[in-house]
Amino acid sequence: MFSYWEQASFLHYDAIVIGAGIVGLHTAIEYKERFPAKRVLVLERSLFPYGASTRNAGFACMGSFTELLDDLKHHSEVEMTALFCRRKEGLALLRQRLGDHAIDYRENGSHELISPGELPLLAQLDHINALIAAAAGFEPFRRADGKIVGFGFPASAVAALIENTGEGELHTGKMMRRLTDYALEMGIEIKTGAPVERFEEEDEGVSVLVADTTRAATIALHARHLFICTNAFTRTLLPEAALQPGRGQVLLTDPIPGLPFKGIFHFDEGYYYFREIDGRVLFGGGRNLDFEGETTTEIALNPAIQADLETKLRELILPGSKVAIAQRWAGIMAFGTAKRPLIQQFSPHVYGAFRMGGMGVALGAAAAKECVALLSP
Ligand SMILES: Cc1cc2nc3c(=O)[nH]c(=O)nc-3n(C[C@H](O)[C@H](O)[C@H](O)COP(=O)(O)OP(=O)(O)OC[C@H]3O[C@@H](n4cnc5c(N)ncnc54)[C@H](O)[C@@H]3O)c2cc1C
Repeated sequence: MFSYWEQASFLHYDAIVIGAGIVGLHTAIEYKERFPAKRVLVLERSLFPYGASTRNAGFACMGSFTELLDDLKHHSEVEMTALFCRRKEGLALLRQRLGDHAIDYRENGSHELISPGELPLLAQLDHINALIAAAAGFEPFRRADGKIVGFGFPASAVAALIENTGEGELHTGKMMRRLTDYALEMGIEIKTGAPVERFEEEDEGVSVLVADTTRAATIALHARHLFICTNAFTRTLLPEAALQPGRGQVLLTDPIPGLPFKGIFHFDEGYYYFREIDGRVLFGGGRNLDFEGETTTEIALNPAIQADLETKLRELILPGSKVAIAQRWAGIMAFGTAKRPLIQQFSPHVYGAFRMGGMGVALGAAAAKECVALLSP
């Protein structure tokens, strides 16, 4: 039962976006930029975003050297470099939209730790640099072995260090707050605690069915265009969507006096990553230890992976240091057989952008732009 006023003012929109993560918010912003007079609504199931966008490591990254090499096992050189360029463009758009100061964007350096077993891969450094330079206009990778001792990494485990000149870091919380504010300032409406149960096609648009616990009812909202930006959770709305969820684990140390490094670090084809934040170390990864167990949308810790992270923290990143763990958390990503995101029109009024993998920070704005560009002129 609606009031006359509710019916007149709250049920009809030009575009509805499901999901208030990085991609959903950028999608709403892109739509509003293109159609400033239109009413745009973002629906988020949780009180604030609850997937990956508020739970990641804040790497503004385009791919480490060994990760790009691994990509070449499954993608052509053209596909690999195209993906690199998409991330570069997405990061530029994110920074231009929100401003470096507001999101604490910094370039304190990005390095990849190369193990003794990976040394033969370095023979391909020049080739990868040349491929990226031809597509993106700069050579991202150079050897920086001289920094290993100063960073305090054990020479027995770290045989080489590769510096990446194109990556940076940001404060994930500040970035998501600013992105939300940016959308609100444009006149986009955002409703949280609004889980979408399903959608139904209509002649001139879509009805979007949202659970309202207070009213103990399912409310149908109507829009001409629907954008599904629910990443790993998409299959509850689009059961056939070609993606798998992939959980990511993270831990954060107490502040460490005299921490010998700043910036962002990767190792093992990007499966592990760590960074300095507020004098602490944020360390994540290890999904490759239990691919099956981590193929889940359940936001929970995996004790075996957390133990592995702690061991690597104490033996590789901070050898000999007695450091306490302050916090641990998990988030959910979405992956496919290919690394590229899925950006698609599903029916006359329904579009989707999801499957950002582990690089949605850089990729999100570019994916949203492509998604809204699918609308006919
Ligand atoms: C631990 C971890 C570390 C990471 N580190 C990095 C990193 O350093 N750099 C990087 O680039 N990427 C990183 N990522 C990946 C990055 O966070 C993601 O690629 C990106 O956030 C995906 O954004 P999204 O908007 O597509 O998805 P999400 O952030 O998951 O947003 C989807 C939103 O949809 C909402 N939703 C789902 N279903 C419904 C529904 N039915 N109704 C309403 N709302 C719904 C969810 O609550 C969620 O808020 C990391 C991810 C994890 C988990």
